[in-house]
Amino acid sequence: MTMRVVEFFHSLQGEGMLVGVPSVFVRVAGCPLRCRWCDTAYAWDYSAGKELALAQIVEEVGRWSCGHVVLTGGEPLVGEDLAVRPALAGLTRRLKAAGKHVTIETAGTLFVPDLACDLMSISPKLSNSALPENPQAGRPDPATLSRLIAAYPHQLKFVIESPGDIEEVCSLLDELPPVDPACVLLMPQARTRDQLLERSPMVVELCRKTGYRFCDRLHIWLWSDERGR
Ligand code: SF4
Repeated sequence: MTMRVVEFFHSLQGEGMLVGVPSVFVRVAGCPLRCRWCDTAYAWDYSAGKELALAQIVEEVGRWSCGHVVLTGGEPLVGEDLAVRPALAGLTRRLKAAGKHVTIETAGTLFVPDLACDLMSISPKLSNSALPENPQAGRPDPATLSRLIAAYPHQLKFVIESPGDIEEVCSLLDELPPVDPACVLLMPQARTRDQLLERSPMVVELCRKTGYRFCDRLHIWLWSDERGR
């Protein structure tokens, strides 16, 4: 079994419940969505990077003495045919067997069973992510999200661009089984420090009103939009 990987890098988790935790990032090639503000467009192409055997991926991860691994993308769950990536479950099992804590970053558009996943980090895409010519692309399906939430330890990260986005967040959450507010994170839409600085107070205010968590973006504060950090 193989998977295409665009890059490996060792950094700090920049977002979510594990912010600040040293982690090895495995950026899987390919994403069927085209988010307007995506900061990893170089990973959209399913032919990007290199095809690697699962054992090679685990070996590469093992170059760093680090207990946390983050499978990111691209979109780690979804293959080029829009079906589940066949090698993904096997990769997660090998990483667990190597003693790793496994986080998967996903938009949550597919349910995938049998993953050895310690944290399913789901970022459902709001309408602020869509390009004008494709307004429905990647819109969350409550039934799929409900299955992911029921199956795995999870966090829900929402990218907030303007105050009105919170209405979409709340109506989506209304369609899901109850989610612990501590697992719902609101994250300013930003690719640079300046954007993060500008939008953070607005998102902080939404957190104060709703009780959801503010999701800082440590990597942007540290490295702005530098790749592979
Ligand atoms: S789902 Fe993630 S990788 Fe894919 S386009 Fe959106 S932000 Fe980029």
